[in-house]
Amino acid sequence: MVKIVIVEDNEMNMRLFSDLLQVRGYRVAECLDATKAVALVRKEKPDLILMDIQLPEISGLTLIERIRRLPAFRKTPIVAISAFVMPAEERAILNSGCDAYLSKPIDIPTFFKTIAGFAPPPARAAAKG
Ligand code: MN
Repeated sequence: MVKIVIVEDNEMNMRLFSDLLQVRGYRVAECLDATKAVALVRKEKPDLILMDIQLPEISGLTLIERIRRLPAFRKTPIVAISAFVMPAEERAILNSGCDAYLSKPIDIPTFFKTIAGFAPPPARAAAKG
């Protein structure tokens, strides 16, 4: 089982990311409420975290920093995802402690390739016929 926590406040984006990942065989835990993100990560112990940056209550950058302060999650891959930002802000995102950055709207092949680079999808039984 390869588990991914998705932190994303927009329900349509959440649906898209969650469905894409589940089709690839990942187990997904959805977090629409950013204030619950750190608690959910501690509970789920994911193999990877997909973190939206623009969140209503708290910045995704702050959440990344908080997660990184927890010894158990110091090395958990975090892929940040954000609407297009200026280069300085992109640097700030990459300096926050995440491992990769994707811009919205996502390019689906890049999305899968980036995630699989940190958390390969589980091998599935061949579905024949
Ligand atoms: Mn958002």
